[in-house]
Amino acid sequence: MNTLGEKIMTARKIKGLSLRELGNKIGMSHSQLSRVERGLNNPSNSLLKKIADELDLDMEELLILCDPNSNNLEYPGKLQRIHYKNTDYVKRRYNILLRDNFTCQACGVTAPSAPLEVSNIIPLSLGGNTTIENSITLCSNCHKGRELQISESGLEDDIFVKRFNIDLSDYRDLK
Ligand SMILES: [Zn+2]
Repeated sequence: MNTLGEKIMTARKIKGLSLRELGNKIGMSHSQLSRVERGLNNPSNSLLKKIADELDLDMEELLILCDPNSNNLEYPGKLQRIHYKNTDYVKRRYNILLRDNFTCQACGVTAPSAPLEVSNIIPLSLGGNTTIENSITLCSNCHKGRELQISESGLEDDIFVKRFNIDLSDYRDLK
């Protein structure tokens, strides 16, 4: 068992849940969930957390199995398979956390008092990339909050876009 999709499918079957039943519990359509299980999509961090909670899986382990910065389920325009080497992700994540002193760049909380995650300043779905320069350390709460804010109001009011003076005209807007 070595892929995220296989891991989720096996855990779901152990729990005796159909795709539709698990989908209903986590607010995801069965077809989207099926794509995740077939390795065609990576779920967003917040969906992954729900899956982990529902199936009693370890969130850290799931994160290593996928690219946590991929939000492509929420943006069907970007439904492509992401090939991904686990060690690359672990290295990149570590370097980002190191640069940010293992500190959430929004609220200032530090590891290990809060789980830290990596967020793309410009989301991949809006044309951002996975470079260290486009990544920022956030605690899981700030990460979730930022995702919600961006999905509601776009990037215009985002504190990191303002902090780093990012010119949004280079990227397509969410709306
Ligand atoms: Zn925070």
